[in-house]
Amino acid sequence: MRVDVSEIRKSPGMKVHLELSSRLPPLEVEGQAVKFTGPARASLDVTNNGKALVVEGEVEAGLEVSCARCLETFNFPVKVDFSEIYYPAGAEGISPEEREEWIPFVGEVLDLTPEVVKSIVLALPMRFICREECRGLCPRCGKNLNLGECHCSREGVDPRLAVLGDLLKEMKPR
Ligand SMILES: [Zn+2]
Ligand SMILES: [Zn+2]
Repeated sequence: MRVDVSEIRKSPGMKVHLELSSRLPPLEVEGQAVKFTGPARASLDVTNNGKALVVEGEVEAGLEVSCARCLETFNFPVKVDFSEIYYPAGAEGISPEEREEWIPFVGEVLDLTPEVVKSIVLALPMRFICREECRGLCPRCGKNLNLGECHCSREGVDPRLAVLGDLLKEMKPR
């Protein structure tokens, strides 16, 4: 995701709005490659504040992930705020604190990709669940319970339910 800053870097006070769209390489999430379902889109304002280029806005993308419960692949949409400050490498008057937080750039093109990827990864949940009511797989036969019941009884699935199952058995007339 690259931005031509040849004009704005020379023009303190200038502000431009950008709509970008770019294919990004797969993300690495917990050692697994996660593919994008399409190009990532960014809606950003770039401002030259006289010292650095402030880039702010939103990034949207879709990821191809597997549900942690039913293992089905689904599209997980992400929408994250983006906010970074880029300063020309070698510029004077940048404090050590600013140097630590800001990102240096060289030349006339800003490559936002590393920070865009970082902001997407930070916004991801610990586990992907296809939908809140996902029933997952039967722990016995592995059937996807979203597609219907299997023939296994639910005994032993949940210890609390198992206890209830035993009680019910005992109560049954012989
Ligand atoms: Zn699921
Ligand atoms: Zn089953």
